[in-house]
Amino acid sequence: LGENLTNTMKKLAGMTVIDKKTIKEVVREIQRALIQSDVNIKLVQSLSKKIEERAIEEKPPKGITPREHVITIIYEEMVQLLGSEAVDLNIDQKPFKILFLGLQGSGKTTTIGKLCKYLQKKGFSPAIVCTDTWRPAAYEQLKQLTEEMQISLYGDPNNKDALDLAKKGLKEFKNQKVIIFDTAGRHKEESDLLKEMKELDEVINPTESILVIDGTIGQQAGAQAKAFSEATEIGSIIISKLDGTAKGGGALSAVAETGAPIKFIGTGERIDDFEAFNPERFISRLLGMGDIKSLVEKAEEVVDEDVATETMNAMLSGKFTLKDMKNQFDMMNKMGPMQQIMNMIPGMGAKIPKEASKMTEDKIVIYKIMMSSMTNKEMENPKIIKHSRIARIARGAGVEESEVKDLLKYYNNTKKAMKGIGRRGMGGGAMNRLM
Ligand code: GDP
Ligand code: MG
Repeated sequence: LGENLTNTMKKLAGMTVIDKKTIKEVVREIQRALIQSDVNIKLVQSLSKKIEERAIEEKPPKGITPREHVITIIYEEMVQLLGSEAVDLNIDQKPFKILFLGLQGSGKTTTIGKLCKYLQKKGFSPAIVCTDTWRPAAYEQLKQLTEEMQISLYGDPNNKDALDLAKKGLKEFKNQKVIIFDTAGRHKEESDLLKEMKELDEVINPTESILVIDGTIGQQAGAQAKAFSEATEIGSIIISKLDGTAKGGGALSAVAETGAPIKFIGTGERIDDFEAFNPERFISRLLGMGDIKSLVEKAEEVVDEDVATETMNAMLSGKFTLKDMKNQFDMMNKMGPMQQIMNMIPGMGAKIPKEASKMTEDKIVIYKIMMSSMTNKEMENPKIIKHSRIARIARGAGVEESEVKDLLKYYNNTKKAMKGIGRRGMGGGAMNRLM
């Protein structure tokens, strides 16, 4: 799915004319890619209709080219297809009991290992209870998975009573904050499996039930999500095996359509092949647009246009004060590194002053702290910042004097570079357009 769409987007990016014909062509290619990835044909049709209508009817907002506008529409509509909002797994009470459900082979046990690692990184130390009495060596599998992670595990390969195991596990871990229950995914009859899950649900009284669905089954994932939701309350869904599968789009969109929140996806067999599911990020990546798309959006949304224009004008005229630089930093915080912003403007990428492109976020934080120790007068007229003022600012900000000098040097270099760009008549318009 990804490759086809990336190619389509590349093609779109290279088109010089955006008219009805090219829009239809692009929409057809998106259609083809989605159908190939097993997305429901009705969904594909309504999606392409919406994209086409919007692309033809809506006028690009101020400062956005027709091409960027079409890209934005495609992006927005595709994000919508996946449910649009990222939903967190919010560990907000103690104990937080997680019941894992899903058919045998869907990836429950593997995913539990992944989730444990994910939670450990967030500072939790989850404990696991194995209630899978069906799979031979279910307990062994968990033991192996968690051995390296030093996670408490409760289970008893000789006990064939899942409910009893759950009860004993609860007792064992009554002081733990997060307890995860692994379950069986198979029974003699499917109805028995759902019955066991209902009983486990009653005994455990989970804070959150997580259903694991194999992503390679495509559209059928929707029906599976529905079936389990009818048996027990499903708090979140994890779609596994989305690595290299052609059917990922089908599984994701079908589940999203049921309204169940997809919170994570599994992207491989290794313990780190796991990520929180974020429709926006997922689609950006799928379209091969990286962060650039979100940059366009942020540029639209967050940046105060007046401040931006003012700062840009100041930058280009060479009348660039520390106040302007602080505004510039604020914009950079909201929009990403300067280099990235500049790369979006044709012909601008290479012209970014070296100093600005080397700016790291950490440095910006320190620079901003130092600037907050300066007086208004100093910010507007940085020339007056000499020895005693440097010492005072350093003391106020809790940094070395050399760091204040560093900031001033950066300011002077940026000012010079900006003046240079302004004189060469580079891109005042382009910059304003972007802002
Ligand atoms: P369970 O029966 O639901 O507990 O499933 P398991 O966790 O035992 O997983 C079944 C198989 O799927 C194993 O071979 C796993 O390695 C594999 N698996 C699980 N998640 C993923 C994934 O995200 N990607 C791939 N490629 N394989 C996975
Ligand atoms: Mg298992």
